Amino acid sequence: FLPDEIEILGTFAHLAAGAIENARLHEQTQDLAVTDKLTGLRNRRYFAQRLTEEILRAVRYTKPLSLLLLDIDDFKRINDTHGHVAGDLVLQSLGSVLTGQLRQVDLAARYGGEEFTIVLPETDFVGARLVAERIRRAASEMVVPISAGREIRVTVSVGVACFPLCGDTAERLVEHADQALYTAKQEGKNRVCLYREILKAQLEQEPGRIVELLNQ
Ligand code: GH3
Ligand code: MG
Ligand code: MG
Repeated sequence: FLPDEIEILGTFAHLAAGAIENARLHEQTQDLAVTDKLTGLRNRRYFAQRLTEEILRAVRYTKPLSLLLLDIDDFKRINDTHGHVAGDLVLQSLGSVLTGQLRQVDLAARYGGEEFTIVLPETDFVGARLVAERIRRAASEMVVPISAGREIRVTVSVGVACFPLCGDTAERLVEHADQALYTAKQEGKNRVCLYREILKAQLEQEPGRIVELLNQ
């Protein structure tokens, strides 16, 4: 290259490097905005956006879709007994367990505190029940080592709601998964409850309210 060509190339290289660096920073900022710091999972904001998108996809391609809402049992006691730092370790470990149990297309997110959500595209209640049970079991087998040779074990409760029968909007699916989670807690924790079962029981009791119950 001639000296002035080299100079021009140098200017281009400089500009390109700046653009690449900008793109990288932009991506990093976006990543932080949708990631939960403690667990590295997606955060609630990302979850809400993805769930809405997945519902649109499910409607368009007439596919099922399931939502799991998971809550650690008696987590307050774990914090009280072992301290907040140990509690945080449990949250991190559970995050890894969830990621390990899911497929690439599934989404695990931290919903808040000690609650997690899992979106399972193209999965009906049969599949969702299997996944929820597998996660419940994996969580109960998880051992979190903390200081001085001590270790923590936890159990989780899971509520499941499936599109479209148990909700056809993101809000309804979350609300119904939450009701199922509440039932799982009431029935003794460390278990999976499907909103479908709650709905079935209601319909059996009050068959005359079928339209109202399916629309609630
Ligand atoms: P249940 O079985 O009914 O779910 O009981 P629980 O004790 O898990 O439920 P509760 O909602 O009473 O307590 C949740 C606890 O989670 C309280 C709070 O201190 C703890 N927690 C929430 N976020 C975090 C966090 O980021 N780190 C730690 N270490 N603890 C947290
Ligand atoms: Mg909770
Ligand atoms: Mg809890």
